[in-house]
Amino acid sequence: MVVMKFGGTSVESAEAIERVAKIVASRGTRSPVVVVSAMAKVTDQLVTMGQQAASGNCEVALESLEALRQRHHLTAGELLGKKRAATLAPKLESRFAELENFLRGLAAVRELTPRGSDFLLSFGELLSSLIVADAFIVRGLKATWVDSRECLVTDGTHTRAVPQMSETRERCKKKIAPLISRKQIPLMGGFIAATAQGIPTTLGRGGSDYSAAILGAALDADSIEIWTDVEGMMTTDPRLCPAAKTIKQISFNEAAELAYFGAKVLHPATLLPAIHQNIPVYVLNSRNLKSTGTEITAQAPPSRDIFRAITAKTGISIVNVVASRGIMVHGFLRSVFEALDRHSTSVDIVAISEVSMSFTMETKRLPKALLTELEDIADVTPEDKQAIICLVGEDIHGKPGIAASVFNTVAESGVNIRMISQGASEINISFVVQESDVPRAVRHLHEHFFPVSGAKVRKIKSKKNGAAGITQTREAAGRGNERRPPVVRLKSAERKAAGAS
Ligand code: ASP
Ligand code: MG
Repeated sequence: MVVMKFGGTSVESAEAIERVAKIVASRGTRSPVVVVSAMAKVTDQLVTMGQQAASGNCEVALESLEALRQRHHLTAGELLGKKRAATLAPKLESRFAELENFLRGLAAVRELTPRGSDFLLSFGELLSSLIVADAFIVRGLKATWVDSRECLVTDGTHTRAVPQMSETRERCKKKIAPLISRKQIPLMGGFIAATAQGIPTTLGRGGSDYSAAILGAALDADSIEIWTDVEGMMTTDPRLCPAAKTIKQISFNEAAELAYFGAKVLHPATLLPAIHQNIPVYVLNSRNLKSTGTEITAQAPPSRDIFRAITAKTGISIVNVVASRGIMVHGFLRSVFEALDRHSTSVDIVAISEVSMSFTMETKRLPKALLTELEDIADVTPEDKQAIICLVGEDIHGKPGIAASVFNTVAESGVNIRMISQGASEINISFVVQESDVPRAVRHLHEHFFPVSGAKVRKIKSKKNGAAGITQTREAAGRGNERRPPVVRLKSAERKAAGAS
């Protein structure tokens, strides 16, 4: 059984949904369960409509509702032909009527609560899934629309509800498994769920991936496919470096690290329910039926290249904090960290010496008040327009010479490094450069660490031909080495993804 999730851009139009039907048909023998997002941009529009209605601009909100209604009917018409579209229309209309009533209610009470927001946003996925289900049926696929709110059970933390797995598993066994055994294709909206009492909830923005992972875990799927509009996860941002290529296999920890440092394909934390159960997750391109994409697993085999990927996160500030004279050294660090804590700020990279500390943070998240507070105890100089470049790969663990090779390559590109970090987990090497230097540095690094295929596999020179296999090719090293035990730092990954969202 395979859970297939299609994101907003994959169901944004009749043409896109047509492709989805073809992709699902190609998985016919593997018992697909299909999860779809709202059509592209719809959730954002619902958010705006809610805000407008709640601030009393009901008419404006209702105009947007009309546009939304037309878009969905138009798409249904294009996909279904007159007759079938006419039978679906009343189902869509009853949702729109409900939505209109809700918006009018918001305008009356002038308040949108988190609980109300979950109800409001549920319409995006309800509408798209109804249309896609019919589009499947018209194309000969035996789809059955399933109400996600009857299967995915969460707590009542509205706007980012937490799944309750044992209850969800039971419901899925009852509502979805029988469909699969009757060779039906269960089809449902992602992102939306409900409490055990049936109050609608959502799993947080972008939550359809999460739905897919939860369903996969609840139904013991063989694999989960996340269909999107890019060719899986890439070795680096192709806009920075055209030579970027698709990563074939990546571990969960590596994927989490990449997401934290700027890769935007998905939030790996949302895949945790699947990873916990060792269900592989594939990220695939819905514009390319033959896509092999990226496979994410709890552990991944060593890569041919030393690193799995390079990311760059721009819009970073460095804050240098140097203790004012007369401050006790131990008291200094404590005061700095306490100030960071008071402002609930999380920093990316930190460098500490006895009397100074530098940290980086996204410029847009750096509170002015924090700087003012720090100025009471230290000399503070913030510097904007910086970037963090991060090279990720579990294989660098325990191998000498890698950092040297990274920094040599950066030096060769003529780029100055401002700060450096490599944690004890040795899963990434990150450093800070000026934002304007990012393209140059990344291109050089990519050329060096990801030589074009056909080129000889890179060797790392070392004096010792040691047990770590560092003078062998990466492939040989991979085969010879025993796999490290899994280090699935789930807690930290979850925290990171939450912080990065
Ligand atoms: N439609 C929801 C959102 O835009 C969920 C998703 O697309 O995954 O956040
Ligand atoms: Mg999405």
